[in-house]
Amino acid sequence: MSDRIAVIGAGQMGNGIAHVCAVAGHDVTMIDVSQAALDKAKGTIDKNLDRQVKKGALDETAKAAALGRITTATSMEAVANAAFVIEAATENVELKHKIFADMDRLAPAGAILATNTSSISITDIAGRVKRPEAVIGMHFMNPVPVMQLVEVIRGLATSDETTARTMALAQGVGKTPVEVNDYPGFVANRILMPMINEAIYCVMEGVGTPEAIDQVMKLGMNHPMGPLTLADFIGLDTCLAILEVMHKGLGDPKYRPCPLLRKYVAQGWVGRKAGRGFYSY
Ligand code: NAD
Repeated sequence: MSDRIAVIGAGQMGNGIAHVCAVAGHDVTMIDVSQAALDKAKGTIDKNLDRQVKKGALDETAKAAALGRITTATSMEAVANAAFVIEAATENVELKHKIFADMDRLAPAGAILATNTSSISITDIAGRVKRPEAVIGMHFMNPVPVMQLVEVIRGLATSDETTARTMALAQGVGKTPVEVNDYPGFVANRILMPMINEAIYCVMEGVGTPEAIDQVMKLGMNHPMGPLTLADFIGLDTCLAILEVMHKGLGDPKYRPCPLLRKYVAQGWVGRKAGRGFYSY
């Protein structure tokens, strides 16, 4: 088997995952249902590689080599020659189940089937495929080329070998993997999302403007970015989806998504990627 990595979903996260894998020397296939998303992802990777060249982190030859390792496809059949598949499509349970059924059917024996889900149960995804031992959570942070952490989440049936290969891949692409258990939201979003949700309640109740709330958290708590700027950056649709999973999965009203968050998502003001969220871009 080659060491090819297939990345499913070429959105904000998929392009970053493809970027770091290609820089680390892996052949990468980016798969998306949307050709426009694939074209945009290649443009973003090019731009982000340029940034690394300007900073002196990479030279032009390495940049060209990394770009040359990335191919794109609009069909799931393209997972057939991958040793490692990382799913990074939209945060939606039914969609993930469908994609994992395809991955299970089409990826070669011995391939690892990883998901970059922010909150959805790894065991729930693994329980529906024929090789649950090969399924694992590999949760990169946004923006992937910059952020150090990869949260690694084992499902109930994930094998030691799958975990070891996932930890090794994360380290190989220059990240620091941290293993945590499979509960809704894992660790990162279990702690982050209630803070973001509370910041949105503060906007809704008029406790402060988005600017004031972000300033308080930046200057008062030393956060590099305020919670509303961060929510816009993550995508308000993704924030809502994560909160829904935690609310349903943990059954505690403290995870109830703020009604104002629902309104923004209903209107399509989902943050930076849409040009408008709590701020305009
Ligand atoms: P995004 O909206 O930027 O991109 C999602 C992509 O998935 C789109 O390009 C869409 O066309 C594609 N897609 C939809 N259905 C597909 C299918 N059937 N096959 C292939 N591609 C399909 O979303 P994102 O922010 O990149 O998030 C992707 C995943 O990563 C989600 O599970 C999310 O929870 C997770 N995640 C997001 C962040 C973040 O900060 N945004 C951080 C960590 C993890």
